[in-house]
Amino acid sequence: METQKLMEKSQEHICQTYSRFNVVMSRGSGCYLWDQEGREYLDFVAGIAVCNLGHCPSEVAQVLYEQAQQLVHVSNLYYTEPQVKLARSLTGACFADKVFFCNSGAEANEAALKLARKYSRMRYGPGRYGVISMKNSFHGRTLATLSATGQQKVHEGFEPLVDGFRYVDFNRLESVADAIDRTTCAVLVEPIQGEGGVIVPDEDYLAGLREICSRQDVLLIYDEIQVGMGRTGKLFAHQHENVAPDIMTLAKALANGIPMGAMLTTDVVAEAFTPGSHASTFGGTPLVTAVANEVFRQISQDGFLDRVRSMGAYFRDQLLALQEKYSFIREVRGRGLILGMELEFPGSEVVSLCQERGALINCTAEKVLRFLPPLIVTRKEVDRLTEILEAIFVQM
Ligand SMILES: *Cc1c(COP(=O)(O)O)cnc(C)c1O
Repeated sequence: METQKLMEKSQEHICQTYSRFNVVMSRGSGCYLWDQEGREYLDFVAGIAVCNLGHCPSEVAQVLYEQAQQLVHVSNLYYTEPQVKLARSLTGACFADKVFFCNSGAEANEAALKLARKYSRMRYGPGRYGVISMKNSFHGRTLATLSATGQQKVHEGFEPLVDGFRYVDFNRLESVADAIDRTTCAVLVEPIQGEGGVIVPDEDYLAGLREICSRQDVLLIYDEIQVGMGRTGKLFAHQHENVAPDIMTLAKALANGIPMGAMLTTDVVAEAFTPGSHASTFGGTPLVTAVANEVFRQISQDGFLDRVRSMGAYFRDQLLALQEKYSFIREVRGRGLILGMELEFPGSEVVSLCQERGALINCTAEKVLRFLPPLIVTRKEVDRLTEILEAIFVQM
């Protein structure tokens, strides 16, 4: 279908929940996308931190193809090997002992919130169900996860929200300590706020949260949906600080674009989940877990995360060099290959101009250009993106 017509039909037949760019994407490879008219784009969005290994990596495609011929889905009434293998890999790489598999970030957070409530009830009885989350956080669009999200615009029109959520300032320990009371069962936080504008917390923030939570037996939940799976140069973002949570959620990059989520926790907390207390028809199918096993294998290869860290540092240096030149760049921040550039004005025009010049970037929190290239990005590609940005900035 011709591009203009296709966009019209999309508007006619698809719920208008997204404002999209005027482009129809049809093919991807590595750090590049092509629209259906054959135009090439350098992709520094990676499907919003999903395609960490780039578009259509051949080994992942091969695993997908082979598993699709062997076994796709049987439900969780039965055991399957790829699921167990993935659970062992994930738990072997962090604080967790157990995993619950699901299909998206919101579902992973939903599982975390349900588990926190149930654990608290098992230990302390009813009434202790409150969750403290952060202002400008993002945790998903289901009723519970939008209630957990500390942004008015995500709540609007869906009230009444799920009961028990309170929002405090990110990166301010006192506000968490003040907000915890007899009704609190958990604190939910992104180790780096993604949608909130790539906000990296102070060095001792997670340790401080851990201490406050442990003292009151309140569960600490990390939402690593955007920053996990190697994005920051460690497998999980909180591993930079080495402060373990009680529960962690993953999704986006877990299977490089095949929909998947996971909620990880300790044996002690997992006791609250008993047969029948939570479930997902599609959670952890042999197909998605086989793909995720391949993704995990690649990210875990020797030198992979070192390369993410060094490429991130290189990219950051290029962005800092731009900041030196252009006074309207307020700040460059981030870790590994999630980088943000805060401007003095809304970033949407820069995003459009980048697209015109064949590069895809994203803007969040209105004024923050967010860069989320595939983790396999090279210097050449970083340089090209930087040149495109410079060509735009010089005219602003
Ligand atoms: C994307 C995201 C979610 C929601 O994930 P979905 O798969 O869209 O439900 C939750 N938390 C964070 C931090 C995210 O970046």
